Amino acid sequence: MVITSSADALSREAARAADAADPLAHIRGAFDLPEGTIYLDGNSLGALPKGVRARLATLVDQEWGRDLIASWNKAGWMHKPFTLGDRIGRLIGAASGQVVVCDSTSVNLFKVLAAALSLRSGRNVVVSEAGNFPTDVYMVEGVAQLKPGLVLELAGRDGTLDDLLTNDVAAVMLTEVDFRSGARHDMAAVTARIHAAGALAIWDLAHSAGAFPVALDAAGADFAVGCSYKYLNAGPGGPAYLYAAARHHGAALQPLTGWLGHADPFAFDVGFRPAAGIARFLCGTPSMLAFAPLEASLDIWDRIDMSAVRAKSVALAELFIARVDRFAAKHGLVCVTPREPAHRGSQVAFTHAQAFALIRALIAEGVVGDFRAPDILRFGLTPLTLAYEDVWRATAILEDILDSGRWRAHSAERGTEVT
Ligand SMILES: *Cc1c(COP(=O)(O)O)cnc(C)c1O
Repeated sequence: MVITSSADALSREAARAADAADPLAHIRGAFDLPEGTIYLDGNSLGALPKGVRARLATLVDQEWGRDLIASWNKAGWMHKPFTLGDRIGRLIGAASGQVVVCDSTSVNLFKVLAAALSLRSGRNVVVSEAGNFPTDVYMVEGVAQLKPGLVLELAGRDGTLDDLLTNDVAAVMLTEVDFRSGARHDMAAVTARIHAAGALAIWDLAHSAGAFPVALDAAGADFAVGCSYKYLNAGPGGPAYLYAAARHHGAALQPLTGWLGHADPFAFDVGFRPAAGIARFLCGTPSMLAFAPLEASLDIWDRIDMSAVRAKSVALAELFIARVDRFAAKHGLVCVTPREPAHRGSQVAFTHAQAFALIRALIAEGVVGDFRAPDILRFGLTPLTLAYEDVWRATAILEDILDSGRWRAHSAERGTEVT
């Protein structure tokens, strides 16, 4: 009888066996990744789908170059915010007609915050979290400039979320997965508590869409926003998306009243009248050059079973954490990602006093993770492009860099570079 010890489960052979049995392994070939790099930053800028080149070439040579303005109809450009929105909708649990692709996540936050306030005009508080991604909180400050009397309260600084849920609260805006620790909210349970206080729930899905199945409709979410360039592989600055639950389409008003949110844009009326459905959340002309890579990435994502993505994501994280656990205490690494899979997204994060130099050393040796101030090493786990053996090698290299002290050759100072 063969007895498998826990050490065996963490061996390179076990990782190879897991890759051989991985139902998503064949998808990796749909992406271009540089040879020799272990890319653990797909949660910040997703890998390049091979189909992007051909889609861009068609857009440039045929749709723009030959058909010119006819492509707004002939190539369906005018409908892309909705057709691509519905394709993202499948990944985030939104029935059709509730998601549009447009603008950036920051701009879309402004729109949904203002829309939520328009539905709760008697209330003057927006609640978020002190640890939220800064742009989310900054956008509330921007909305407040236009709405004197609006108060921003931050859970984790002003109190706990439940304590802040008073009857003055118009909206609670949370990022489902914390960008530093990877900790995940229970969207359905938190949304229910927000609704019990009479407020509306706005969810930022930047680290959710493409990382695990999201169920916006089932959770009763009111609004959501997110990026396409992280787990969804739509390229640097790829367009964002916005979800508004159908029940709000009639009454919610957003202040970026551009012509494409008008009920009849081509009537060229003098006064603004909001469109009936999700279209009222559009503003100006969609950027077809930025939509093209998203279409190519969705050609891959359309075929993906999100429950398989989640299963692999959990297994990759378990392997990563278990392997680091073997040397973490000796080297002062502390796992800040929840150990319970249900409480995390698809990244693992550790604190270390020399986190910045360590990340520089890893990158120099082909393991691309990132640093988040003040002391976090962050590793994104993207199940479509990562193999179990990649996790095995990345953690072996991390251990070796720590054992050998090679990180000392790297500056501990963060310059002005993007990390
Ligand atoms: C990445 C990220 C953003 C980015 O917003 P942009 O407008 O695309 O720059 C916003 N919110 C969260 C939580 C993010 O992680």
